[in-house]
Amino acid sequence: MTQRSVLISGAGLAGPALAHQLHRRGIRATVVERAPALRDGGYKVDIRGAATEVLKRMGLFEAARAADTDMRTVTYIKADGRPIATLDASLLMGRRGDDLEVVRTELVRILHDATAADVGYRFGDSIAELRDDGEVLFASGATERYDYVVGADGLHSATRRMAFGEVAARHLGAYISIFDVPDDLGLDREEIFFSAPGRMVFAYSTGPGTPTKIGMVFASPPLTDPRPRAVLRERFAGMGWRVDSFLAALDGVDDLYFDSLSQIEMPQWSRGRVVLLGDAGYCPSPASGQGTSLALVGAYVLADAIDKGDLAGYERVMRPYVDRNLAYGRKMAGDMVPGGRFQLAFRNYGMRTLRFNPWKRQIIEQVTRPLHEAANAVVIPS
Ligand SMILES: Cc1cc2nc3c(=O)[nH]c(=O)nc-3n(C[C@H](O)[C@H](O)[C@H](O)COP(=O)(O)OP(=O)(O)OC[C@H]3O[C@@H](n4cnc5c(N)ncnc54)[C@H](O)[C@@H]3O)c2cc1C
Repeated sequence: MTQRSVLISGAGLAGPALAHQLHRRGIRATVVERAPALRDGGYKVDIRGAATEVLKRMGLFEAARAADTDMRTVTYIKADGRPIATLDASLLMGRRGDDLEVVRTELVRILHDATAADVGYRFGDSIAELRDDGEVLFASGATERYDYVVGADGLHSATRRMAFGEVAARHLGAYISIFDVPDDLGLDREEIFFSAPGRMVFAYSTGPGTPTKIGMVFASPPLTDPRPRAVLRERFAGMGWRVDSFLAALDGVDDLYFDSLSQIEMPQWSRGRVVLLGDAGYCPSPASGQGTSLALVGAYVLADAIDKGDLAGYERVMRPYVDRNLAYGRKMAGDMVPGGRFQLAFRNYGMRTLRFNPWKRQIIEQVTRPLHEAANAVVIPS
């Protein structure tokens, strides 16, 4: 019997997680990644609920737990850098059970290291054409045949376009950018949030001497052909605090993450031999904080479905979970960028007084309940 083979487009988080699970089931996995090396940029990502169970079954939970950010505090500041309120991070993030928060770079490396020996990675290449009989033409000119092709190539998936045609993303009214600057803030597992109407900047570092990760979010209708560095300078210059020095560092940034806060909604994730996974099929947007969890759970469920030759099973198990998390992401998008001055003042008042509120744990539990329900809204096949 010939060994079954799967081509996965995209070595982000979903692609290597699927490759890991296919290899475990005796299926040959090849990952093709357009970038010349792992794209290891990004901020912290959350792994919640069902996704922690998936990491345990993959045997990678302990590695991820060792990389947990172990955040200490979150501080909201004014334009002059003075604090509005400092809060205990574990209280504010409302983590439950085995939920983890890991810098994206670390998770990318954990997944890659766990698969590098058994999975063929083709960096600097991409799919140029998908043919009906499972044959794939690569941009490098090679042709190969696979039993399945999986698009795990993110929000702007080229695999999706080739198999399903143009699918319009649902724009949630904002853009987000993440990049590293050389450390000069002296943060040690502390996060800073600085907001103005329509704009927010956040900064985080795992410890003194490590690069500071900067996040910038701004409200905007869809931009045609945005040039990230120019757009960020135009939107954030003169905002206050140290924002101008972050903008000055932009030219030295290698892997700038810049994207719209958007969702992908599709009635079906497979067509013939082509299947979509992670952001390519059901991006919930960074506003949900659930993109990584959906990618991990999706990878596990898809590996099982491919093994059984039952792609309908993938749709059946994932659909309610995906719908719930997409709905949650839409709800949260409005909160990610503060609206007017009144909304901002109201939020700042809430943060200032929360520390002294005897019901603070109950309040946070109430606020984060929909997130935890969404994070657990799936039964993973045994
Ligand atoms: C550099 C980077 C930084 C990010 N930072 C954050 C963050 O800070 N916060 C957050 O919430 N989310 C972030 N994300 C998105 C987050 O990783 C995903 O929402 C989520 O983890 C789902 O993962 P994914 O594997 O489906 O998609 P992604 O992690 O986006 O991975 C997709 C991969 O496919 C590759 N690819 C794209 N097109 C092609 C092609 N045509 N052929 C081959 N490969 C292709 C990309 O280079 C990338 O490696 C980031 C994504 C990237 C790529």
